[in-house]
Amino acid sequence: MTIPPGSTIGIIGGGQLGRMLSIAAAQLGYRCHIFDPHEHSPAADVAAAFTRAGFDDHDALQRFADEIDIATYEFENLPVAPLRGLGDKLRPGTRSLAIAQDRALEKQFIENCGGRVAPWRQVSELDDVRSAVEQLGLPIVLKTRRYGYDGKGQAWIRSAAEAEDAWSAIGQEPAVAESGVDFDCEFSVIVARWADGRHAFWDSPENEHGEGILRRSTVPCSDAVALQVAEAREAAIGIAEALDHVGVLTVEFFASRDGPVVNEIAPRVHNSGHWTIEGAVTSQFEQHIRAICGLPPGSTELVAGGAVMDNLIGDDLDRWPELVAEPGVHVHIYGKGEARPGRKMGHVTRVKP
Ligand code: AMP
Repeated sequence: MTIPPGSTIGIIGGGQLGRMLSIAAAQLGYRCHIFDPHEHSPAADVAAAFTRAGFDDHDALQRFADEIDIATYEFENLPVAPLRGLGDKLRPGTRSLAIAQDRALEKQFIENCGGRVAPWRQVSELDDVRSAVEQLGLPIVLKTRRYGYDGKGQAWIRSAAEAEDAWSAIGQEPAVAESGVDFDCEFSVIVARWADGRHAFWDSPENEHGEGILRRSTVPCSDAVALQVAEAREAAIGIAEALDHVGVLTVEFFASRDGPVVNEIAPRVHNSGHWTIEGAVTSQFEQHIRAICGLPPGSTELVAGGAVMDNLIGDDLDRWPELVAEPGVHVHIYGKGEARPGRKMGHVTRVKP
């Protein structure tokens, strides 16, 4: 089924990913309708319509469903049940969402698909954490099953004595305990998949994090990562197929001595793919719109020698005057209000000749 230009795409979630999806959709002649509970939504600023309502507001979702031709989501911490009412209009479907928003389901799913994950245990009380320390060894990182992102909801355990503090630090929430992976570097596989199984990969970016937040993505990746990309792509497409995923899917990996280890999956466009806007023939945002609307795949080739994307986090945004004055730098500012520490305010991409 093709959703032609002129149709309305509903985007659930109104942050910067929704903003960049809306801009790409508008270029192809679509109208976007944003659904988000916040008064100010960076995506709504560039879209044709905005519904401000809670993600669990069934009536508002029903009215939204009546006004759109197709729907997608830009973040995964959404209640699944209310979205079931969108039925076939929702791409990717609720299965991708349900798996990706729960770290325990996600890890089981990846293992069932034949992917490699760090040794892990499910934990729901302090005794489970202590058992995990005994069984897995140290270091361990505790991660809440739900609502964690950018390193939030995580606590490291480096000695057995730290188990209790770590359990308190994550709010004693249902969690996974996973072994610290001794990795050389981090990278991601970004793939777009169509309903008929066609798919397209971009070059894999190598990703640098600080305090759990992505700071920089670089393509092409280093030789150490390049050696692991083929195996990682195989794991990523296996996951996409098992989810029957339609749209962009991102799988984050650690490049370890044993090969690529999946860290997590995101059923959506991803921060490590922002470089594709200027660095690839077709951006991840345009490709996601193409995939969900059933348009043909665009080329994912690099337009030049590569690209480096740097996030502008918190008061990094204060540097905008010098950044916009730098020849050739592509500045993206998300139009968020307050530049709180750790908040993603924008990014810049420098394309390599
Ligand atoms: P996450 O929110 O799971 O993506 O974690 C944020 C960052 O913390 C990752 O990109 C890694 O840099 C680091 N990290 C998370 N889990 C592990 C692990 N099991 N071993 C080593 N580093 C990790």
